[in-house]
Amino acid sequence: MRILVAEDEITYRHMLRTLLTKWGYEIVMAGDGLEAWEALRSEDRPRLAILDWMMPGMDGVDICRAIRQGKSDPYIYLLLLTSRDQKQDVVQGFEAGADDYLIKPFDPHELRARVHAGERIVELQDRLIRAQEALREQATHDPLTGLLNRRACLDSLLAELSRGGRTGSPVCIGMVDIDHFKRVNDAHGHLIGDEVLCEVARRMQDSLRRYDVIGRLGGEEFLLVLPGCSIEEGVKLAERICHVVCSEPVKVKNWSFAVSISLGVAVANQPAPGDMEALLGSADAALYRAKEAGRNRVEFSTQLRRPSSEAE
Ligand SMILES: [Mg+2]
Repeated sequence: MRILVAEDEITYRHMLRTLLTKWGYEIVMAGDGLEAWEALRSEDRPRLAILDWMMPGMDGVDICRAIRQGKSDPYIYLLLLTSRDQKQDVVQGFEAGADDYLIKPFDPHELRARVHAGERIVELQDRLIRAQEALREQATHDPLTGLLNRRACLDSLLAELSRGGRTGSPVCIGMVDIDHFKRVNDAHGHLIGDEVLCEVARRMQDSLRRYDVIGRLGGEEFLLVLPGCSIEEGVKLAERICHVVCSEPVKVKNWSFAVSISLGVAVANQPAPGDMEALLGSADAALYRAKEAGRNRVEFSTQLRRPSSEAE
């Protein structure tokens, strides 16, 4: 673990460096407050800092205050070093945002114990951040394919529709269904079926542009969100994906599966969040036609199927 040591007195600098290095820490040294502040603002800032109270430039308390005022994420643990006559001011140090303090001259064992306590806090916070990230991932992604799940991809469709409403650029979507997928599952079981599904998902994802979104709606159904695409561009992209998916068989264990997909493409030329249902309905209807027409193809509709009209 890296620790910032900010200390202007040479004897303490030397002592802190020797002790902390001996205990296995990597040290970043600062000789005054400004140097310490720079180090704590840098990209690879240490997560634990030992700050002398009295330093030229900025004192330890100033640094604590400045760190806590800024958005310091992840948390930096701050340990203040004070001399005896400042002890009555320790409250001020805590109010400024210090986590702990140590009185000079200090006992090495006590320093070690306090640094350990700080290290535990930093590690706990790291674990908390990782757990939050894992939860966010679980809440928004399909565990099988790693694509966005139904809710997250509908959310991003909604976001694109309102963005398109502001910028006046169209939003295309593609509703995708893997052809005859049930046959794979029935003949070979779900484990093999899952692998085929993942490979098809990977092929589709690899064919998209960076800002396109793909999600798994459920089963063998997927949704593509293609911001900024006219119906012509959307259909072209869908045809490319269709081609990539069926370009070679999917091999799982000793089997080889010829795979293909059907796509229904629809566009909102003047998007609005309220169009979502109509847009999904239009794409779904186009997908149905693609299946009726023999699968492994793209069909599209240029009219939104608004709930109030029967027209398409
Ligand atoms: Mg000093």
